[in-house]
Amino acid sequence: MKIAVFPGSFDPITTGHEKIVRRALPLFDKIIVAVGTNSQKQTLFSLEKRLEWLEAVFREDPKVEIAHFEGLTAHFCTKIGAKYLLRGLRNASDFDYEKTISQLNHIVGQDLETVFLISGPEYSHISSTIVRELIKGRADVTPFVPKEVKI
Ligand code: ADP
Repeated sequence: MKIAVFPGSFDPITTGHEKIVRRALPLFDKIIVAVGTNSQKQTLFSLEKRLEWLEAVFREDPKVEIAHFEGLTAHFCTKIGAKYLLRGLRNASDFDYEKTISQLNHIVGQDLETVFLISGPEYSHISSTIVRELIKGRADVTPFVPKEVKI
């Protein structure tokens, strides 16, 4: 069984995240969208809210499960028996960052492989950071988040 973990903060989930998961569905038997929690990292939305939105977005997809974990992503993958990580790449700075993390995860996660999907041009400007800035500035974020995300 090919299980992939799509880890992130999802603060909040964007249409960019959703698209990556949907494009990866034919590649895996199961995709676990996993919210990594870190006590040092301040988020705009609570873990409960972020999980609730993820559940709502993927409710109709039997291959997608929602989870959360504390600690290292690689350890979470080992624990649940996932041999693949899924990540999206928007640009060269994503690549630089992801390359190092992927190399580390390959060692820490005992041959854990990261599968990268390049984002479509209509998604490469979308990030949770930008969405949070727009929310703080009281702008409408509906073009950037799945319809299930009601802010
Ligand atoms: P992190 O907190 O680790 O940056 P994010 O929640 O921001 O996690 O993102 C999780 C994953 O989704 C990362 O691989 C990131 O590159 C990818 N991603 C985020 N936004 C997009 C997008 N618009 N298009 C494609 N991939 C994206």
